[in-house]
Amino acid sequence: MVQGIAAVVREPGGDWVMEEMEVEAPRADEVLVRNVASGICHTDVAVRNQDVKLPLSMVLGHEGSGIVEAVGSAVTQVKVGDHVVLSGDSCGHCRPCHEGLPSYCDDFVQRNLSGERMDGTSPLSQNGVALPGRFNGQSSFATYSLVPVRTAIKIEKELPLELMGPLGCGLTTGVGTVINALKPPAGSSIAVFGVGTVGLSAIMGARLCGCACIIAVDVKPARLDMALELGATHCIDASNTNVVKEIHTITKRGADFSVECSGVPIAVRNAVDCLARPGWSAQVGATPGGIEIPFSMDHMGFGRGIKGVVLGDAATQTFVPYLAGLYKDGRLPYDKFVKYYDFDDINQAVHDSAVTGEVIKPILKMP
Ligand SMILES: [Zn+2]
Ligand SMILES: [Zn+2]
Repeated sequence: MVQGIAAVVREPGGDWVMEEMEVEAPRADEVLVRNVASGICHTDVAVRNQDVKLPLSMVLGHEGSGIVEAVGSAVTQVKVGDHVVLSGDSCGHCRPCHEGLPSYCDDFVQRNLSGERMDGTSPLSQNGVALPGRFNGQSSFATYSLVPVRTAIKIEKELPLELMGPLGCGLTTGVGTVINALKPPAGSSIAVFGVGTVGLSAIMGARLCGCACIIAVDVKPARLDMALELGATHCIDASNTNVVKEIHTITKRGADFSVECSGVPIAVRNAVDCLARPGWSAQVGATPGGIEIPFSMDHMGFGRGIKGVVLGDAATQTFVPYLAGLYKDGRLPYDKFVKYYDFDDINQAVHDSAVTGEVIKPILKMP
């Protein structure tokens, strides 16, 4: 058992508070990771605000990166001292796992959203009382994470470890949705709605695929400027224009593909209405719970469709190192929109990204 520090929220919308915790020794198939850094993702803030109703006391954070400190007796994939990026957990033996789609694992909810292992225990505690500690398999707003081995993905030691955590969620989601789920042919057109971390990653993915027309849609001018810098060919400020009409004007026949990252219902509808014949839209943004959105079947009937995508339809064990390689080659320059904060400044980092929106991807550096 080791002692660590975790950032914990005790009331809906409240501040994160630093608390001491105890971390168990690894079980046979587990890995103890000393976290070096963790990105903050929109989902962490959504749980803090209880827009996503998961246990509030759960240690959040799911873009961790760190160094392996101890491994269980059955672990062969990583060893002490390895650098790892943490991603979501999966069982490894159900049908989606075998088909390389671990984000649709039969056990996804229990393994990633309950805060517990499959047997109902948590690897974290405070004075003998369990502290839920398996958010997305990792709970990385903490100095240590005790994770299932499938969650820890080894990366090369030359890479800047403190930058790598967002590869485990935001980058995998955005890039993967384009190159794994939509597979746009070179020369095609794509519209990306909402250009935070995931949307900007989708734009970089579209560029990697050779899309000829890449349209960024957002309401924040600074984010649209960043989209242009990363490969968008056009941008649309959705706050003052008819987005669907504008996309038809740019593309002449509608967008071949779209990616919706905001979860705003009107944007979901626009992402489908802007499609060409045929055309596919990927829905990535978390919409408000229980919502239903109407679509015109006259429009959908002409070869159009919408597909929900989690974690970029990626086989994370191979996809995360693939993205790390693209970063190393200068083809995924997401460091342009990262800002680092000390772990203690987590509340400031959330304010700057989720409240004012001036920072796109905050990364916490652990002491
Ligand atoms: Zn995330
Ligand atoms: Zn599975």
